[in-house]
Amino acid sequence: MAKLISGNDISKEVRDEIKAEIDKIRAKPEHADFTPGLAIIQVGDRSDSNVYIRNKLKKAEEVGIRAVHIKLPPSTTQDQLEAEIDRLNADDAIDGMIVQLPLETTSPIDSDSVIDRIDQRKDVDGLTRENAGRLARGELEGTIIPCTPRGCLYLVQKATGDENYVRGKKVVVIGRSKIVGSPAAALFMWHHATTTICHSRTANLKEECLQADVLVVAIGQALKVKGDWIKPGAVVIDCGINVLENEGANGKNKMVGDVDFESAKEVAGFITPVPGGVGPMTIAMLLKNTLDQARKRRLEASTGGRWSLRCLTLTPLSPVPSDIAVSRAQQPKPIDVLAREVGIFPAELDLFGRTKAKVSLDVIKRLDHVPNGKYIVVTGITPTPLGEGKSTTTIGLVQALGAHLGKNVFACVRQPSQGPTFGIKGGAAGGGYAQVIPMEEFNLHLTGDIHAITAANNLLAAAIDARMFHEATQSDEALYGRLVPPGKGGRKFSAIQLRRLRRLGIDGTDPDSLSPEERKRFARLNIDVKTITWQRVMDTNDRFLRKIEIGRGAAEKGHSRECQFDITVASEVMAILALTTGMADMRDRLGKIVVSSDTEGNPVTADDIGITGALAVLMRDAIRPNLMQTLEGTPVFVHAGPFANIAHGQSSILADKVAIKLVGPDGFVVTEAGFGADIGMEKFFNIKCRYSGLTPNAVVLVATVRALKMHGGGPPVTPGAPLNAAYLNENLELLGKGCDSNLRKQIENANKFGVPVVVGLNRFSSDSPAELDLVVKKAVEYGAFKAVVADHWAQGGSGAVDLARAVADACSQPTNFKFLYPLDKTLASKIETIAKEIYGADGIELSPEATEKLARYEKQGFGQLPICMAKTHLSLSHDPSRKGAPTGFTLPVRDVRASVGAGFVYPLCGDMQTMPGLSTRPCFFDIDIDPDTEEIDGLF
Ligand code: NAP
Repeated sequence: MAKLISGNDISKEVRDEIKAEIDKIRAKPEHADFTPGLAIIQVGDRSDSNVYIRNKLKKAEEVGIRAVHIKLPPSTTQDQLEAEIDRLNADDAIDGMIVQLPLETTSPIDSDSVIDRIDQRKDVDGLTRENAGRLARGELEGTIIPCTPRGCLYLVQKATGDENYVRGKKVVVIGRSKIVGSPAAALFMWHHATTTICHSRTANLKEECLQADVLVVAIGQALKVKGDWIKPGAVVIDCGINVLENEGANGKNKMVGDVDFESAKEVAGFITPVPGGVGPMTIAMLLKNTLDQARKRRLEASTGGRWSLRCLTLTPLSPVPSDIAVSRAQQPKPIDVLAREVGIFPAELDLFGRTKAKVSLDVIKRLDHVPNGKYIVVTGITPTPLGEGKSTTTIGLVQALGAHLGKNVFACVRQPSQGPTFGIKGGAAGGGYAQVIPMEEFNLHLTGDIHAITAANNLLAAAIDARMFHEATQSDEALYGRLVPPGKGGRKFSAIQLRRLRRLGIDGTDPDSLSPEERKRFARLNIDVKTITWQRVMDTNDRFLRKIEIGRGAAEKGHSRECQFDITVASEVMAILALTTGMADMRDRLGKIVVSSDTEGNPVTADDIGITGALAVLMRDAIRPNLMQTLEGTPVFVHAGPFANIAHGQSSILADKVAIKLVGPDGFVVTEAGFGADIGMEKFFNIKCRYSGLTPNAVVLVATVRALKMHGGGPPVTPGAPLNAAYLNENLELLGKGCDSNLRKQIENANKFGVPVVVGLNRFSSDSPAELDLVVKKAVEYGAFKAVVADHWAQGGSGAVDLARAVADACSQPTNFKFLYPLDKTLASKIETIAKEIYGADGIELSPEATEKLARYEKQGFGQLPICMAKTHLSLSHDPSRKGAPTGFTLPVRDVRASVGAGFVYPLCGDMQTMPGLSTRPCFFDIDIDPDTEEIDGLF
């Protein structure tokens, strides 16, 4: 007589375990609201489906899973059903979904395609083709085991008390459906049973069954399998659910299985009843799959645990080929794969082709409870005009941390301007074997952020001139009438106009109630044309737009004026993108942009022009960081790239904020600050960190033997000219002097902020071992936490492993981060602090113009802003020819400007070129496209 396997009891145990598990997760304060979400989609109104769904909903609620039933009419089309699945895929509250089969539908629906639409991470039925393939191949890791087969196996294991019971046994499965028979057979086989699948065409079915140590029956034929088909002592699992009409007690319907229970129980060792056998197990396993998915998606992917990143292998060649050749030789991972690896949900990703994607800022909110990773800024000593490899070191460092030390790490870098790509500079994606790939995507349009900035900037520029024109050509009353026109529901102020009224201290909300004086004040911005600082921009080096005259058309009635074009990355909109902390903040900052003063000296803002919302709309997509990858397949955010002189020269705060959550508490975010440390690092700390609230853990100061020799008194280094022999042969004297001056000062500067400094010595093939040793020794002597030689340009991440270890060590040190100056000092004294403390000046000398502007900005209420020095990056002083660590100079401040929206005041110490020009022979001579492969050539 067989032992009864009670699916009711065993499934109850499973459900109790699920409930206990959910309660345990919720007991942690950071997961107090952990509630797995299950969606059950039904098309039609089949009565058997209704019963199953009711049961699933009830049991889900009992264990603490929030289940929703989405019932669609039989007229639902495939497109509508798929749209519903897409919606649930994107719904963060949903961890699992099933489509209840069979569908009751009046339109043709391919149910396999519909089910394939379910995001793998939300599949809890395991019925997608991908999943079926994995199960068939025995890839059980990461595969969702379909509920009924999972329940069948669990019943055998529980009944026999042996997890490995089926190993080596003969299992016969009757039925080969996608839902039960086939996956059950695969599951038992991969638990090492010798499995036979039988079906309607099987010859000698009874004989096959008699061989079975475990017999699983799923045929949908009432009472088909009799006792004499069963090997004595076998385990019999009956999946069948069949209704015998009017055959139950009192003529009611009777539910029976596919096995003739009465005769089978006499022979079998164990047997499941119907009802109360497999049925309740299917529901329990559905709930278990849902919990598993919720745990994976919400907890494991979001606790900052170690990513399972598939890194790309590098085999560096010697000599190192051109950057584009190195980039092209590597096949990047599909960007959605990388996103998944680092814990970004599909709904948080907008793909731009296969190698770039925008990432939603929702990640920050979702991972709010995850502690931040370590935050590292890469900066450099005062460079030669050739650059010393900060970007390359940033990328080499993350390749080392990610691909060689197995850390979670993000690089956050700036998007380069496209102008120089066709002008003099070539690419900016790092270099050699430390690059962001594909480099042509990085260096060209990326995802259009710079174009969006161009559009927003120029909309504001157009609005300023149009407004001045309309004010100049209309009476007060006509102007007011046009600004507040009679609409359908009467005249109304728009929200932005009401804000202007409040700023003017006018209380009214009814346009007709304003006095003539109030109307005039409201309608006339009275822009003082001499004070306009807002320029037009474009992302092309076009020297002939540096000074232009606009308004020459007849329709502009002689209202022409001189103005200029800047390159787009010089736009304040770019600085705002880099400094904003979210959509509301960005809109606010765009509104605060001061475009000029009025004739009475008051600031005129973008909000006064009425354009705040429109600018935010143009910047809607640009606000999301762009995901790319390094040559070794580690993640990179490329986002924002403001000028480093008239702006702060950093990639975006938002990219850092998303990354610092994704890497988790044991991970690292490495970001680069433009120019040398006296400019880039100082602005990183005093402007960017002030606005982001993020605390840095370490500074990497990039140095090269070449630049140090220049600071030690070496001959000038000029782009395009061959390097002097002093730079190519060992010269410890020049090098030592460079270390004693510039390296020393930059290390001391970094230490002023209370953050450990690691000197990364970017190795060139001409550097001698004695030279490298000298720099390392001197750097430590002058206060570096460590100094390390790195060879990532030639070797990729493996060349920067020592640097990565030193940086990780530095990050474990306590920090005592402090700003250089408080915001409540006067603007002049803040400028003076930077000049004296960081540049080594004796003091500052303000031109009359600068003095007047500082007074004006303080009067206008902008005295609390931090300072963004616009100074040459080629010297610690204002004079590019003075190398080393100059002293005994006074810093001249020629003029001062304010980027009030971005949030800084920028003193000009010298002429700042905001529109590069093209040389006689720009890079574009070399740039071409292969018409067949569409490969781009000539970028370097
Ligand atoms: P299905 O798609 O109709 O498949 C039935 C399978 O059984 C087919 O492979 C068929 O062979 C085979 N078969 C039918 N008659 C046969 C016979 N006389 N001899 C040998 N093989 C035969 O059904 P299913 O969805 O797999 O469901 C099977 C049973 O399990 C049904 O009673 C269903 O209600 C029940 N079920 C229960 C649960 C639960 O939660 N307990 C869940 C799912 C299904 P061919 O391929 O050659 O046609």
